Amino acid sequence: MSLANACLTCGACCASYRVSFYWGEATGAPEGYVPSELTESFHPHLLCMQGTNQKNPRCVALEGEIGQQVSCSIYANRPSPCREFSISENGSNPYCDKARAKYGLSQLIPVQEVA
Ligand code: SF4
Ligand code: SF4
Repeated sequence: MSLANACLTCGACCASYRVSFYWGEATGAPEGYVPSELTESFHPHLLCMQGTNQKNPRCVALEGEIGQQVSCSIYANRPSPCREFSISENGSNPYCDKARAKYGLSQLIPVQEVA
């Protein structure tokens, strides 16, 4: 499987961590873009995606089945932590690896192209 497509059959990070970000990223702020109705207050200056601030997190915007086929319903307007979260390659992002392991998914190792 190509690493580029691995997230489409994963989604584990969207159901493993609290996704919090500065309130100004949400549409309640003048320059905001993350739909406010999918967020909740977490701290005086922070919001989080609904569903992620709980014991068994799952972002409200995550669609599909983890480990099968998933998509983000607000992909173009997802908050900064989602944009900054990188897919792991040979262990480069332990948070990705840890999330995948939680759902029984293996660490990602790029397939070498054969000339
Ligand atoms: S846990 Fe890693 S592979 Fe899975 S969706 Fe998140 S970034 Fe992609
Ligand atoms: S906003 Fe989208 S990318 Fe971010 S945690 Fe939710 S489903 Fe995942």
